[in-house]
Amino acid sequence: MYTSLEHYIDGNWVKASGKSQDVINPATSKTIGELGLATRGDLDKALAAADKGFKTWRKVSAFERGKILRKAAELVRARADDIAKVLTQEQGKVIAESKVELMAAADVIDWFAGEGQRAYGRIIPARADGVRNMVIMEPIGPVAGFSPWNFPVTQAVRKIAASLAAGCSIIIKCPEETPGSPVGLVKAFHDAGVPPGVINLVYGVPAEISEYLIPSPIIRKVSFTGSVPVGKHLNALAASHMKRATMELGGHAPVLVFDDADVDGAAKLMGAMKYRNAGQVCVSPTRFFVHDKVYDKFVGQFVEHAKGTTVGDGLDPASKMGPLANPRRINAIEGFIADAQDKGAKVATGGKRIGNQGNFFEPTVLTDVPENARIMTEEPFGPVAVMLRFKDTDDVLARANQLPFGLASYAFTKNANTATKIADALDSGMVTINHFGIALPETPFGGIKDSGFGHEGGIEGLNVYMQAKFVSHLG
Ligand code: NAD
Repeated sequence: MYTSLEHYIDGNWVKASGKSQDVINPATSKTIGELGLATRGDLDKALAAADKGFKTWRKVSAFERGKILRKAAELVRARADDIAKVLTQEQGKVIAESKVELMAAADVIDWFAGEGQRAYGRIIPARADGVRNMVIMEPIGPVAGFSPWNFPVTQAVRKIAASLAAGCSIIIKCPEETPGSPVGLVKAFHDAGVPPGVINLVYGVPAEISEYLIPSPIIRKVSFTGSVPVGKHLNALAASHMKRATMELGGHAPVLVFDDADVDGAAKLMGAMKYRNAGQVCVSPTRFFVHDKVYDKFVGQFVEHAKGTTVGDGLDPASKMGPLANPRRINAIEGFIADAQDKGAKVATGGKRIGNQGNFFEPTVLTDVPENARIMTEEPFGPVAVMLRFKDTDDVLARANQLPFGLASYAFTKNANTATKIADALDSGMVTINHFGIALPETPFGGIKDSGFGHEGGIEGLNVYMQAKFVSHLG
């Protein structure tokens, strides 16, 4: 049993007026649902609803908004098992990861519920008696959000919860390939009492929706999560209409394993992180720079971890890694591996598709990868780890920083001086040392360089949905 698929506009669950497309289970390659696509007429209704919803919602106190959001968080927790099944059927990730995603989504809602009540503004000392200089934080206005298929619930909830906590309304276009779990998420907000028009959920042809919504004078803010090329295009469109934007784009995360590291712990943790969601994660550890002295030990243990990662249907509790989310990823990963092998790389384990039904792929480790292999510069977004050697700290920092990406970086060392040096020197929006410490609701998540700008999470994640108004008052 999958789920019903409808759009949510102005507080109603509605059928889209456009064509339909199939929703495919990536573990079976079978059709499990049919999704209607929005027309411009549907988008006009969503725009009018978001306009009206903003006018209502901005007047609801942050205290009351927080109460409704907390109720939504509780509903997400209560429904986590059911929504998780839908998520695994449409996206492929193992059911345990789907449940973690739902619980994380509830935590995100709770965080923003509280943070919305702390959007304080400030008082600036005046130059004259009787003058009050105030900075008031106001919601920026209706938001157009675009979320991807790799984390259909958490990528959507970061935009929805932050918008609502700030007092904004949102039209969110969720991924057409994984539409059912976002429906489950938005139902929780509806049932918690979010007024009509404040959240509007649509699906459609992505380019048609963004080209129509972003220029609309109703939309004041754009938030996109996805690939670098699409992000650059949407950011240019937003800029040409003077809209503020948040861009959460791709990465190619380096991992630095020093010779004084806890090698066993690092291999175990990074093995689990690499194959989580079959590597389809923007912060997935990908370029492993391992000190020459511990290279054989680390790579040996990592390969053993990869070999022990059971691949299968995500609904089977024995599976540790599900299928890739769509056949495009199989083609992309096969291309990266063939290219690297042609140029001299060795496959230490994996490297091949599994079976011909569903999008299953072996957890893969590549060694001896030359600098000119495509996988060294392009984000693989799949279950492939690239193992590289280093001897010198300055040299490895230069290699880690040489790509245009700058999202997440990982390092393992017991030396405090090395830790401080690399934390300062790594060109990325997030650095985590000796553990996996990123992507919490209360901490800022975001990239630099081609990985985008703006944050989702932390106080920074609320600020991007607010604007400062200066008021000076005499008397
Ligand atoms: P893609 O670039 O076609 O699409 C990526 C996402 O952007 C999808 O959700 C898609 O619906 C959306 N999108 C595409 N064109 C759009 C447009 N004109 N307007 C609005 N939305 C648009 O690629 P894909 O094959 O779906 O995914 C592969 C690549 O996307 C990966 O290699 C990875 O780099 C990137 N990606 C990144 C994230 C992330 O978390 N940053 C998530 C998913 C995909």
